[in-house]
Amino acid sequence: MTCVMITSRTALVAAALAITVVPATAAAAAPADEAQVRDVANAAAETVAEEQQLLADVAPDGPLAGDSDARARLRVVDSQGELLLGELEGLGVDVSDAARVALARLPQPGTIPPPGVVYDAAFADLVRMAATPAAVLPAEPQADGPALGLLAVAAVALLALGAAALGNTLRRRETDDDLAAMAWSDGLTGLANRRRLDHDVASFDMSDEPTAAIMVDIDHFKSVNDSFGHQRGDEVICTVAQVLLEHVRFDDVVYRYGGEEFCVLLPGATANDARGVAQRIVEAAREIELPDGSHVTVSVGVASGEQIASAAVESADQALLSAKAHGRDRAVEASEAAAELVPA
Ligand code: GH3
Ligand code: MG
Ligand code: MG
Repeated sequence: MTCVMITSRTALVAAALAITVVPATAAAAAPADEAQVRDVANAAAETVAEEQQLLADVAPDGPLAGDSDARARLRVVDSQGELLLGELEGLGVDVSDAARVALARLPQPGTIPPPGVVYDAAFADLVRMAATPAAVLPAEPQADGPALGLLAVAAVALLALGAAALGNTLRRRETDDDLAAMAWSDGLTGLANRRRLDHDVASFDMSDEPTAAIMVDIDHFKSVNDSFGHQRGDEVICTVAQVLLEHVRFDDVVYRYGGEEFCVLLPGATANDARGVAQRIVEAAREIELPDGSHVTVSVGVASGEQIASAAVESADQALLSAKAHGRDRAVEASEAAAELVPA
């Protein structure tokens, strides 16, 4: 089952994060119409996410089975994708194969939609374009600029990931598999995934900006699966993801850390901000009802203060363990958890 919830806001926040690692030289060489590339790439990323969501709704039992209303909406989204692809190409942007497949397809009854990894890769690629429009535009129109532009994007991505194999990557064109490996969204919830978290934490660490972090784990989730089945368990994970998105601040980014665990990065949050978000999450989770009338609870660890992102994530994780140990269904701050470790 899939319940992708990528929103334009997620795309924009992801784009804003990626911008933090663009080298100054790329910004200096910005052509005049880079804002246009950013707008089209953002619109295309939304279209790709919307189509993926529609396909998940329309085709639970096979390609394009389901109600005709949804099929009609799918056709509208598809022609929008085709249009946006044309616009990107018109701007001289060299679109990746994954983005081309996801944007150009006109689904007909009986045809097979592209697999989820292609949508994920297309989404990641379009977000990169939106984040670094100057890098994907030809330096001089009609020259071999688009190819150079793509190399610049790859270089930015590698810089952010701290990868060493720059030379190799610059020599070959990315295949769909490479792009899929770089995909940054979680297939079940549509949240940014663990790979994306590692990337963003590295970016924040490089910038030395203090960042607050919150770790969230659904309590006794194994018994949700055992009692109501894995599909219902998946739905609960999606609902918690939605609740997190609804209760964080505009600049915060929610990640699926793995399984039934989530992480929130809160750039620039004060201790009060972070505490408030954590408390709202604990309270909102209690509103989620399970089939037997009981309610979901979550345990939350929160870390804020003058620490870089990687340290904040680690401290929040420790605080989460403390929340579990103290009975679950609560938020614990890293400073409280650390105090427990000090011998009396
Ligand atoms: P605690 O309160 O200590 O966190 O207990 P818990 O049962 O939530 O924790 P535990 O780590 O024992 O179990 C987590 C379960 O989450 C086990 C695993 O099968 C399930 N799980 C992990 N990922 C998924 C998923 O994507 N979908 C579903 N339905 N279950 C998942
Ligand atoms: Mg867990
Ligand atoms: Mg759990």
